[in-house]
Amino acid sequence: MARNYRQSGHKRAGHCVKVGLFCRSTRAFSRIAALETKARRAKNVRMTKYVLLDRDGVINRKVENGYVASWPEFVFLPGALEALRLLAENGYVSLVISNQAGVGKGVLTAAALRQITQRFMAKAKAHGGRIFQVYYCTHRKEERCQCRKPKPGLLLRAQQDHGFQFAKTYLIGDSESDLLAARTVGCPAILINRNPARVRGKWASCLPTVVPDLRSAVSLVLEEGDHRA
Ligand SMILES: [Mg+2]
Ligand SMILES: [Zn+2]
Repeated sequence: MARNYRQSGHKRAGHCVKVGLFCRSTRAFSRIAALETKARRAKNVRMTKYVLLDRDGVINRKVENGYVASWPEFVFLPGALEALRLLAENGYVSLVISNQAGVGKGVLTAAALRQITQRFMAKAKAHGGRIFQVYYCTHRKEERCQCRKPKPGLLLRAQQDHGFQFAKTYLIGDSESDLLAARTVGCPAILINRNPARVRGKWASCLPTVVPDLRSAVSLVLEEGDHRA
């Protein structure tokens, strides 16, 4: 709205001051609104547990040196659907946080990605799972956006939308960028990898908990959840 003010053609000094005041009051208003939202959500936080999931290599098979560009290429990993169901049955809301630079590179369209997403969400639901929302960064690395993991942008957006506490929310991923993004926001992370000894040496600084698949990761989350409740 401040921009409208400027665009309305008033360029006298008086109006500049007004624009400034308007900006300040807008900021004050959004600060109050944010506090109210925070308070409202604080009540829900206790009831709703969240888990943040990477997609490729966690839920579905990763396409080596490429992208899942169509539905037939989206292959659920063994035990993944069961893991999603277990999360839902135990009161966890699953959010997917995924880099999909294939869109930015023109390997697949945003519409194709949307279609793949609708289909895997529907399939998870049919198996008793509950993927509540999917967050994608579709930028290329060179675009230097704030959302491509290891940047925390997508995680921050998910947190703003849902109001969960990072420190109490697991992020389950299969790559270093997942671990780094989790560390930036303070999420406990679980790494999916079939060669724990090797990755521990490689990413020692992140000290990840390493498990072979999503099913094992979910077992850990559920055990922890029981202790925290
Ligand atoms: Mg991955
Ligand atoms: Zn991005």
